[in-house]
Amino acid sequence: MGSHCESSVKIPPIKFTKLFINGNFVDSISGKTFDTIDPRTGEVITKVSLGDREDVDLAVRAARHAFDYGPWPRMSGSERGRMMMKLADLIEENVEEIAALDAVNGGKLFTLCKAVDIPVAARTLRYYAGAADKIHGTVLKMSKGLQGYTLREPIGVVGSIIPWNFPTTMFFMKAAPALATGCTLVVKPAEQTPLSALYYAHLAKLAGIPDGVLNVVNGFGETAGAAIGAHMDIDKVTFTGSTEVGRKIMAAAAASNLKPVSLELGGKSPLLIFDDADIDQAADIAFRGMFYNKGEICVASSRVYVQEGIYEKLVKKLVEKAKATVVGDPFDPQVNQGPQTDKKQFEKILSYIERGKREGATLLTGGKQVGQKGYYIEPTIFTDVNEDMIITKEEIFGPVMSLMKFKTMEEAIKRANTTTYGLASGIITKNLNVANTVSRSIRAGVVWINCYTAFDVDCPYGGYKMSGFGRDFGLEALNQYLQIKSVVTPIHDSPW
Ligand code: NAD
Repeated sequence: MGSHCESSVKIPPIKFTKLFINGNFVDSISGKTFDTIDPRTGEVITKVSLGDREDVDLAVRAARHAFDYGPWPRMSGSERGRMMMKLADLIEENVEEIAALDAVNGGKLFTLCKAVDIPVAARTLRYYAGAADKIHGTVLKMSKGLQGYTLREPIGVVGSIIPWNFPTTMFFMKAAPALATGCTLVVKPAEQTPLSALYYAHLAKLAGIPDGVLNVVNGFGETAGAAIGAHMDIDKVTFTGSTEVGRKIMAAAAASNLKPVSLELGGKSPLLIFDDADIDQAADIAFRGMFYNKGEICVASSRVYVQEGIYEKLVKKLVEKAKATVVGDPFDPQVNQGPQTDKKQFEKILSYIERGKREGATLLTGGKQVGQKGYYIEPTIFTDVNEDMIITKEEIFGPVMSLMKFKTMEEAIKRANTTTYGLASGIITKNLNVANTVSRSIRAGVVWINCYTAFDVDCPYGGYKMSGFGRDFGLEALNQYLQIKSVVTPIHDSPW
């Protein structure tokens, strides 16, 4: 396992490091900056302008003006769609450069950023660009003498607070539907991964998106992020991140202008593997489901339940896969797993691993740092775990799998639902009846049958229970950025 390759690529050129407000790159009002770190080494990549409350204020003022007086919400949907399509083209033209930013900043595999994350951003933009001219209300035949219709109007200024694990996907998962509806935005990327968001701001300007429509304020959560949650002139907040911060944002929204919020708060997702599964296929699905993006993925199959008949064989396969994983520089095409995104996350994961050992779980493989520099961790698998252990209850957000054995479907369903979360789940079986029964019984926003992490932009995505509420992706996401207005007129002297 875990050969640790030295960094193959030095830091790619960084063009944009300031805040993007009202169509211009500007210094923060305080003039302060913060370091953005290369997780391969722990060294500084560059300094980025540090936005605070006053910078958020400026950005909100620009977004408010663009919404209240500017062309964006007033132009036709097809015109907005055309600019979004142009932005998608520009993203594809610059795929290498943007992929390098997410790889160096987030420790994400360069080849996957290039083949998946960045092209998916373009696809997301095109999907919602195509929807922009199909947003319409309904005509109502009301009681005698009245006629009504509904308008679906953009909600206004949107605050988007996003995490660091998928800097590009998260940016457009929120921005694309909001832009399609005619909203304007203030985006606060995670402090760990500010670089690609600034590149997107630059491309949005080139695509012709008017000044003030898309603003990016980098900064920390307790300052810039909190200012968005509490702002009186932001009409909606969309957030992805931790449950703890989700609570704070909801409280801030309630204490300020009662803006609606949508929250995607991660999970502790179960994957149920039944005796009739093809073992090789099941091992592939379970392994990728957990260790994709070094386990920093909110839908990770971090609780794997295996039926007793195939348990031993499956465990063996999973351990083999973990041992064969090459951990190292995310720019090296031979590497399967890059570094964790930051030091805090790295230390948190290692402390969960220690906790697991103390709780009496058996460490089957992994558990240690790889190399001495950077934030690399071995793919780690625990067995002899149960739902009472912290490592099975809490989201670790790193390459750590809990493996458990079950006897019957009923038992598996019950244990799968023993969690405060409800984001995702998976089932591997050839039995359609089992697949359908389990799908209806699991309380989670997505059920993957004989696959895992199978996302696409047209498939709505979001949580049950403490995984949050609201749906990203799909046409459903548009509703998060729309208001319904009813317009009623009398019809005089009409028999209708
Ligand atoms: P976080 O929730 O603190 O950060 C996410 C975003 O929220 C960042 O942009 C951050 O600046 C902002 N933020 C932080 N405090 C804020 C506040 N008071 N008001 C407004 N915005 C604020 O997440 P983290 O600390 O970076 O990671 C902690 C844990 O969160 C992870 O270990 C993982 O369990 C979970 N997480 C989940 C997801 C997901 O996709 N659901 C993504 C990242 C992290």
